[in-house]
Amino acid sequence: MGFNKILVANRGEIAIRVARAAKELGKKVVAIYTPQDRGGIWRYFADEAYEVSSYLNIDEIIYVAKKSKSDAIHPGYGFLSEKEEFAKACEQEKIKFIGPSPESLMMSGDKAIARIKAQEAGVPVVPGSDALESAEKALKVAKSIGFPVLLKAAGGGGGKGMRPVFSEDEFFHLFRQASEEAKSAFGDPRIYIEKYIQEPKHIEIQILGDEYGNMIYLFERDCSLQRRNQKVIEESPSPLLPNDVRLKMCESAVRVMKKINYFNAGTVEFIVDKDWNFYFIEINARIQVEHPVTEMVTGVDLVKRQIKIAEGEKLDISQEDVKLSGHAMEFRIYAEDPENDFMPSGGYISFYKEPSMPGVRCDGWLYSGCQVPSQYDPLLLKLIVKGENREETIRRSLLALEELKIYGVKNNIPFFKFVLNLEEFRKGEINTWSMKSILEKYKKWNEESHVSDSLILLGAYLTSKNIQAELNGRNEYVSANGKASLWKVRSWKIAGRIEGRGQLK
Ligand code: ADP
Ligand code: ADP
Ligand code: MG
Repeated sequence: MGFNKILVANRGEIAIRVARAAKELGKKVVAIYTPQDRGGIWRYFADEAYEVSSYLNIDEIIYVAKKSKSDAIHPGYGFLSEKEEFAKACEQEKIKFIGPSPESLMMSGDKAIARIKAQEAGVPVVPGSDALESAEKALKVAKSIGFPVLLKAAGGGGGKGMRPVFSEDEFFHLFRQASEEAKSAFGDPRIYIEKYIQEPKHIEIQILGDEYGNMIYLFERDCSLQRRNQKVIEESPSPLLPNDVRLKMCESAVRVMKKINYFNAGTVEFIVDKDWNFYFIEINARIQVEHPVTEMVTGVDLVKRQIKIAEGEKLDISQEDVKLSGHAMEFRIYAEDPENDFMPSGGYISFYKEPSMPGVRCDGWLYSGCQVPSQYDPLLLKLIVKGENREETIRRSLLALEELKIYGVKNNIPFFKFVLNLEEFRKGEINTWSMKSILEKYKKWNEESHVSDSLILLGAYLTSKNIQAELNGRNEYVSANGKASLWKVRSWKIAGRIEGRGQLK
């Protein structure tokens, strides 16, 4: 059963990514956008586009799918992608949901159930509990596991509803907080407990399975650099990971996924301690933000595979066909201010330029003049870089980040440049707790090399005037105080410095 038309129930970069894959396969594409997203460029990557009130409104999206005679819906990530209810609604309306079955979504979506399934599959989980009905019971469990523990939301995602607890004194207070946050974010207050593993790495395994029980792994992504339990840089292969551990993790991932009768693309997440013991933490039953990293090192187009699997095709790649080649990294470029506690920064993009060189891919949705709405995830662009080895990838990434220009909103490009030059990053010694010390170093570095805003503005203004003068062949430099030569030098210098930090507006 081949699809004729696919509705993409998402926005931003992933809506474009899916539209491109669908078109490459010869499909027609239907886009949706909300009133806040009328300027969203993904509309124009589609053959038809419809306005909806929200990316979460199941009835409206199904209505658009039927009206446009779409055969299938690709949910992207976030929003409705892991909602059992949505997959069921599609099934009822005879529209194919490009993802796993509603039953698999039910089991992966309840993280406490997924833990049990992993255990049944003989895969190590973090010492912990099922979902707990009361704070008193939870404290008992915490004491038997031993502090520190991590309170986690059974319905959780996106790093929300999680609280580490280091002692009994703070237990009830934090339990209440986690439960309330889980209730408001996911409509599900249930909490379970895990041992809080010290300074782990986050390593996840990509899998692909067809609807006939065939499944392969596409090796790992290391997503250890995180802020507030959310990924910031991802890479593959994981630096330093011993090969025997890698293979055990890959095989474990397939066992868990088979246990829940999973098909389509999915990811099994693990945390890994200092001695390379790995523990299952959850299943992401969808295409992930960081999927291009795997595409770059395996050469497999995961989104096209998702569509073909949903069309009922058998997997035509075997495990032996999947080979890792080179090293890839992804940088999540966000509209946020790294110098001000990563505060979100919405607004107009006044100028935008993508880097272009061998091994560089930009998955984004920006154009000069577009607006970044503040209601949605501030992800602007994913810069994905591949090299023959990790060292080459780092050097190439620095060049690409230098070429990438986003003016108009604050962004974290300068932070990535800083991280790539850090010794611990270069050695691959990053764990999920590393961010704290990295941010302290970054703050200090920023303070030491601080140039005041007014000086930056003046410098930029003078530079532009002087460039104009030079281009016009005139030797009449503008200056702040009449000392042209001095100001010429200083303004150039300052502009160079701002450029270096990717901040010139
Ligand atoms: P994970 O961190 O669970 O492995 P990803 O990093 O791929 O997965 O993305 C996290 C998921 O949470 C995605 O589905 C993303 O759309 C969603 N998400 C990210 N940030 C937010 C947010 N601020 N609010 C709601 N959902 C979010
Ligand atoms: P989410 O559904 O929000 O993605 P996860 O269970 O995947 O939640 O956890 C997100 C991150 O939180 C992990 O990548 C890891 O950094 C941290 N984390 C989760 N469980 C533990 C644990 N038991 N010990 C230490 N860190 C953990
Ligand atoms: Mg996760």
